[in-house]
Amino acid sequence: MGQIQLKQVTKSFGDVQVIPPLDLIIQDGEFTVFVGPSGCGKSTLLRLIAGLEDITTGHIEIDGQDATDVVPAKRGLAMVFQSYALYPHMSVRKNIAFPLRMAKLNQVEITKRVERAASVLNLTDYLDRRPGQLSGGQRQRVAIGRAIVRDPAAFLFDEPLSNLDAALRVGMRLEISELHKRLETTMVYVTHDQVEAMTMADKIVVLQAGVIEQVGTPLELYHTPRNTFVAGFIGSPK
Ligand code: ADP
Ligand code: MG
Repeated sequence: MGQIQLKQVTKSFGDVQVIPPLDLIIQDGEFTVFVGPSGCGKSTLLRLIAGLEDITTGHIEIDGQDATDVVPAKRGLAMVFQSYALYPHMSVRKNIAFPLRMAKLNQVEITKRVERAASVLNLTDYLDRRPGQLSGGQRQRVAIGRAIVRDPAAFLFDEPLSNLDAALRVGMRLEISELHKRLETTMVYVTHDQVEAMTMADKIVVLQAGVIEQVGTPLELYHTPRNTFVAGFIGSPK
């Protein structure tokens, strides 16, 4: 399960409202991409879903349960950041196992989950290396591995590929899409890159200044953009 619903959610920093009242349903199993220019509120929205920021007014429901006041660790969601935030002194195995140790799972279960994640992400041969001995793409996979082992209801990605060079980025896009097909878990993916949005998304949410301009499939946005902002951003001919 992994349906996420935002109901009249707002966010202000001090006197500045960066998210005016916003409603959104992210369906279970869907690959949803938040796209929009820098500063439009993509990361803030993702952090509100994760619980890393408190919402100012409104409600968040996860699988129909009010999660507005639920702490991040109890929301059942896993966040993957653009900076990998791996522990440099720990092996890949220990990095991936870390959230499970924090959750106090037993060693047998930890080993099983770490090995399963490593196999899904082609990291089996790298488990005893340290992050410094890996390529950028491999490091990003370790960060994803650390999310997978928690068996989350949804993955939240904040521009996970923006630190990678162009060629690697294309490869990782495909890998994340493959992963989504295999796991069939809800993924919410933030990017300012239209190509990433158009190639990866089941559903795209176009944001401008904290406001949802349009929600639709890549084809819907391309063929029937609701306004010139969406058309311009998606690159469709309107
Ligand atoms: P994006 O991820 O789309 O680039 P952000 O969600 O990071 O945008 O930021 C949206 C707006 O909120 C920006 O105007 C930004 O300056 C502001 N903002 C984000 N985080 C904070 C914060 N902790 N304090 C004050 N303003 C913030
Ligand atoms: Mg951001």
